[in-house]
Amino acid sequence: MTRTNSRPHVLLLGGTSEASALARLLAARPDIPAMVSLAGRTINPIEPPIAYRIGGFGGVEGLCAFLDEHAVTALVDATHPFAQRISESAATACSASGVPLLRLERPGWTQRADDDWHWVDDTAGAAAAISGLGRRVFLTTGRQGLAAFAGLSEAWFLIRCIDPPEPPLPPACEVLLDRGPYDLAGELALIDRHRLDLLVTKDSGGELTAAKLEAARLRSLPVIVIRRPRRPETATVRDVAGALAWLAGAA
Ligand code: NAP
Repeated sequence: MTRTNSRPHVLLLGGTSEASALARLLAARPDIPAMVSLAGRTINPIEPPIAYRIGGFGGVEGLCAFLDEHAVTALVDATHPFAQRISESAATACSASGVPLLRLERPGWTQRADDDWHWVDDTAGAAAAISGLGRRVFLTTGRQGLAAFAGLSEAWFLIRCIDPPEPPLPPACEVLLDRGPYDLAGELALIDRHRLDLLVTKDSGGELTAAKLEAARLRSLPVIVIRRPRRPETATVRDVAGALAWLAGAA
C-alpha cells in the first residue's frame, strides 16, 4: 500500500495524533509536498489525507535508501514518545544523508502535588511495582510489552488497547479494545465498574488520553508512570504549529 511522489517532498513519520493533525494541515499546503509513513501496527488506520506509505523501511540502511530514492528534502519525526527505534533510525539516516530533521514531540504529563504517582523506567519496573500498590489494575501501556506483566498472578488486569494484544498476558485479565479519545465520565465509570485500584500508564502526554489521570486523581488511585526513553539530540518542537512553521521555513 504505497503511493509515492516522484518530486522532492517532506517525509513525515507518523503514528500519533500530532502526525495526523500535521498531515491534515499539509493537505492544504501544496507548496509543502509531503508523504506520511506509518509503521503498520494498527489494523485499521485512519487513511491519511496526503500521500502515504505503510511498513518499516528496513532499518537505517533502508531509510537512507528511501530518503535518496524519493528525494526527501526534510524529515519530521512525529512518532510516539515511546517509539525509540524509528527515532534512532531517523536521526542516524538524516545525519548520514544530510537531510534536515525535526522532532515533533508533545510534552509529557505533569504530576500535581496531591498525585500519588510512582515513576519507573520501563514495563519491567512497572510490573515490579504493582504488588505493593494495588490488586485491580487498569493497564493502559498499549498492546506491546504486555509480556512483562504475564507473570503477575496476584492481581487482576483491565487491559485497554486499540488492537487485540498478543499473548502472553497476565492470567487474570479482561481486554478492552478502544481507540479513544476518552472522557472523564467514561474513565470514572470504568474505575467504578471494575473496582480498579491502580492505574499503569506510559508518560505519553497529550489530551486524548489524559482523562484517566484526572479520574485516578478523583478516586485517589495510585498511578505507576513509565518514564519516556532517552532519544537522540535533535531540533524539537512541541506542537503542530511549530512543525508547520519549521517546514514553511525549510520549503
Ligand atoms: P519502534 O519500536 O520505534 O519501531 C520499530 C520499527 O517499526 C522501526 O524500526 C521501523 O522499522 C518501524 N516503524 C516505526 N514507526 C514507523 C513509521 N512511522 N514508519 C515506518 N516504519 C516505522 O516503534 P513502536 O514503538 O513499535 O511504534 C510503532 C508505531 O506506532 C510508531 O509509528 C509510533 O508512532 C506508533 N505508536 C507507538 C506507541 C508506543 O507506545 N510505542 C504508541 C502509540 C503509537 P524499520 O526499522 O524496518 O524501518
